[in-house]
Amino acid sequence: MHYRPTSARIDLPAILHNYQRVMQLAPNGQAMAVLKANAYGHGAVDVARYLEPHVPAFAVAFMDEALALREQGISKPILLLEGIFQPGELALAAEHNFWLMFHSEHQLRMLEKVSLNKPVNCWLKLDTGMHRLGLDQQQLQSWLPRLSAMSQVRGKPVVCSHFACAEQEQSQMNLLQQQQLLDLVAGTGCEFSLANSAALLGLPDAVNGWNRPGIMLYGCSSVPGKSPSELGLKPAMTVTSQVMALHTLQKGETVGYGAYWQAEGQSLIATLAIGYADGYPRLINSSTEVFLHGQRARVVGAVSMDMLAVEVTHLPQVRIGDTVEIWGENILVSEVAASANTIGYELLTRINQRMPRTYV
Ligand code: PLP
Repeated sequence: MHYRPTSARIDLPAILHNYQRVMQLAPNGQAMAVLKANAYGHGAVDVARYLEPHVPAFAVAFMDEALALREQGISKPILLLEGIFQPGELALAAEHNFWLMFHSEHQLRMLEKVSLNKPVNCWLKLDTGMHRLGLDQQQLQSWLPRLSAMSQVRGKPVVCSHFACAEQEQSQMNLLQQQQLLDLVAGTGCEFSLANSAALLGLPDAVNGWNRPGIMLYGCSSVPGKSPSELGLKPAMTVTSQVMALHTLQKGETVGYGAYWQAEGQSLIATLAIGYADGYPRLINSSTEVFLHGQRARVVGAVSMDMLAVEVTHLPQVRIGDTVEIWGENILVSEVAASANTIGYELLTRINQRMPRTYV
């Protein structure tokens, strides 16, 4: 039960539709649903429960996120993408069928030294150009036979890498990264994993292994200049709020902290019950909009912690209690993100516990 008139409506069938779109793009590959950061703000447990019958595996960032899913009864394998773990987590991973991402010699030596009751599934991250995490080619080649000989390891590792510039379809770096990984995997009998969302949408040679789609499952385009509908995706989160007050301002009067916005003439201002503490960005440009009564209206003045103001002079029919779309189908989250000089990922993952979520 919640009383707030502000909420995020999560369309679970849209997420499944987007997963099916992944499978259309990668009919010869497999795809795990990436649920890290609370399923990009959509609620990891609810999304996992809905998708579980349809997907072979999930991915999260680290152990705590994976355990939270197991505690709620999610039973499919879960890959811990970010490769952050301590020695004690190896046994936990084996017990819960969490797949571990090894990206350094340090971690592989950790694995060599433990004895486990059950073997663990290993993924090896190869650094093909991102230079954040990953083994180099020599390290990978030396570790593959050593892992095959270890009783702590189940089967052959999956060899994985992450694109640095997948959103830039024309980037030479994509082809170099892809070629490096595919060359190394050839002849090893290992499966590979390369594609995130942008690669699924733009790099068809990268998608025949284990794919790791995140943002596209949530219906947000990571491809510059392409809308979700052009990519066959449906936005899964609609954030709405309510008009909580209406004021008529005279020319020269200002709105909000810092008095940054000044009315150029008589103006109707609607105050909405959502602010930066809900994850709405505070630093937005002057053309950021919301959607009400079938039209767009501009956010004016500084965004406060719990509220923001929009100019609705062109919508005299607006009343207290009216519903306003903050982002969703009409105002894309990527559009709000661009006006805050960031990306949809950041806005979605900043939707926090304070925001009630409803599921359809
Ligand atoms: N794979 C890895 C290693 C990641 O870190 C991420 C997300 O950051 C993904 C896959 C999913 O990426 P995307 O949300 O762009 O599909």
